[in-house]
Amino acid sequence: MEISKYSFGVGDRFGRQGRAQLKALAQAREKGCSIAPAWNKSYREHVIVGTSPGEVRLEADNAVAACGWDGPYYVDADHIGRDNVDGFLSASDFFTFDVADLIGEPAAEADLRGFAGDCRHLCGTVNLPGLDGGIGLTGERIRDVAGKYLAAVHHAAQLYRYVREKKGEGAFITEVSMDETDAPQAPEELLLILKALSDLHVPVQTVAPKFSGEFYKGVDYVGDPEVFRAEFRADLAVIRFAVREFGLPANLKLSIHSGSDKFSLYPVMKNELERCGAGLHLKTAGTTWLEELVGLALSGGEALSIAVEIYCRALERMEELCSPYAAVIDIDPARLPGAEDVRSWSGRAFADALRHDPSSDAYNPHFRQLLHVAYKVAAEMGDRYLDALEDNREVIAENVTMNLYERHIVELFPGIT
Ligand SMILES: [Zn+2]
Repeated sequence: MEISKYSFGVGDRFGRQGRAQLKALAQAREKGCSIAPAWNKSYREHVIVGTSPGEVRLEADNAVAACGWDGPYYVDADHIGRDNVDGFLSASDFFTFDVADLIGEPAAEADLRGFAGDCRHLCGTVNLPGLDGGIGLTGERIRDVAGKYLAAVHHAAQLYRYVREKKGEGAFITEVSMDETDAPQAPEELLLILKALSDLHVPVQTVAPKFSGEFYKGVDYVGDPEVFRAEFRADLAVIRFAVREFGLPANLKLSIHSGSDKFSLYPVMKNELERCGAGLHLKTAGTTWLEELVGLALSGGEALSIAVEIYCRALERMEELCSPYAAVIDIDPARLPGAEDVRSWSGRAFADALRHDPSSDAYNPHFRQLLHVAYKVAAEMGDRYLDALEDNREVIAENVTMNLYERHIVELFPGIT
């Protein structure tokens, strides 16, 4: 199984927007750009919402059938590890092995020595086509990087072998993610991580490093887009080199996590992808749930009351809701509107504060981020929330499709005419 050149992780907290999401990709295809959808959902999200991987498979299959989608699509077991992989085995055909927690764990001395020996030919300047100056490596730097990442790579290889044993070789896509950690990975670290994955025969097709700057959930990138450009360009060059020199799958590409709403980076990425013809995977998840809230607010009446109630309850439970996401959100409580104010808002005012329109004065990224993590409150409402989605499905679907297509896909992927 080989992942398409361009792919897009749609995610979907409540599993109701599959068709609206797929419609955005169908629009891209009509405009000349083929992008494969991947419904990604992590163990953390399943636990919070109370869903199972089988439901994601069902949603994906149903959306594909309903839309007559005949292109490839995937179901991604997102951020899984040894403790929770079993529940994903039958439903998923894409596995994101998250080994960020093992970064810095000591590796076996023999493994370290063997790896450093195997890398001796990389000492000096590694010339990477498309990257001025190449990458400089010393024996000491190689040992340092191996000391930091080799245990994590061995763990990824164990996870890969475990899933291969259950599902069969070539029956799934392998992603290795290291993004949920403090320090970004420099291009030479990515190079050596890919070398180690190749040595351990992991046919990695997507890799998710951590970039510098902040990738907070549901809001724009925080950092200098030109610094990101240099890093992204170097990583693309590393990947081309690793495919050729280490024999990794020819379609190996970068995967960008917390990828929704990074509006200041999309033109940069699009430009770099065009420059070298590389593929990309971008994961989004929470942005669709926020469009559900936009749609509910705009619908008014009981639907608006539900959106308001979710916010007011989230305000009271901020600490609890934010704690699983502490590293990937940045909320200033002083900038959050009070419950009384929000109760007096029109649906339009609620939607304007929430909607990610950087040019609008009404847009409030703190309000948006709190709602981003508040899906647990909606999950607790059970049928009341799900019935509201059903009752207002048209306006919600319209917002879901428009958000993915116009704000994300058109801005990011090359070739849309
Ligand atoms: Zn991630």
